[in-house]
Amino acid sequence: MRELSTPAELIAYRKEMTESVGFVPTMGALHTGHISLIKQSVAENDKTIVSIFVNPTQFLEGEDLDSYPNKIAADLKICSLAGVDAVFLPSINAMYEEDELTITAPKVKGFILEGFNRPGHFDGVLQVVLKLFNITSPTKAYFGKKDAQQLFMIQNMVKHLFLDVEIVPCEIIRESDGLALSSRNIYLSEEERVRALTLSSSLKLATKMIMNKKFNCASIKSSMQEVLKDTKLEYVEIVDREFNHIEEIEIKNTIILVATFVGTTRLIDNIWI
Ligand code: AMP
Repeated sequence: MRELSTPAELIAYRKEMTESVGFVPTMGALHTGHISLIKQSVAENDKTIVSIFVNPTQFLEGEDLDSYPNKIAADLKICSLAGVDAVFLPSINAMYEEDELTITAPKVKGFILEGFNRPGHFDGVLQVVLKLFNITSPTKAYFGKKDAQQLFMIQNMVKHLFLDVEIVPCEIIRESDGLALSSRNIYLSEEERVRALTLSSSLKLATKMIMNKKFNCASIKSSMQEVLKDTKLEYVEIVDREFNHIEEIEIKNTIILVATFVGTTRLIDNIWI
């Protein structure tokens, strides 16, 4: 497995290849969720490139940029065992200059939910993903449905900028008790981890209501809020798959999302109906 640390190195490595390339961008501290994306890429492409880069431009002032979990040695082992061909581990200076053009997420869909609660977050995500796509020139790129709005923003960027890459949405991987895997789960104390289960329980309750033909979004949201009452809720929202607000569940076209703080840890989860 190659370890590459500058864009120039990766561009040169990529130029040697004529085969299909799968790309999995990550911020490291890899867990089973990341591994499932990597395995899918390895299965579907001749070569797989994983990036590990904690991108400063997508963190807001006061967020956990400086304390974001770092497990590089373990990450490299995981990638190697999973059959990754190259890992890209750039420094911030290798990726950014002092004064750069910026990218702004779409003014409507980029400024709701995550975009509303983390203003500027998607601008940073799109900026780094565009850079990474340009360096990697992937055939396919793999993103988790866990970050549903991020996935939607990236699909839109590909469409709006006519990028030649196929975005592959990947299923959410959970612990056996329902907690969606996240690099930030390690911040949770034992007691907080128990409370964190209310995210997936609230989504399970929503699914149950829908199975019982209760399609009214307001009443689903209020039942979910009750389950989440011991957390500091940012939002529970129900949208269609284009992120338009909806009043009634549309089967096969709905996403139910939740974002909440458990202690000081911000967690997100969602379910696709
Ligand atoms: P991150 O390292 O948090 O930037 O995540 C890198 C990629 O892994 C993103 O596309 C995430 O959506 C995806 N991902 C993170 N957690 C999960 C999970 N539990 N299941 C599936 N994909 C995930």
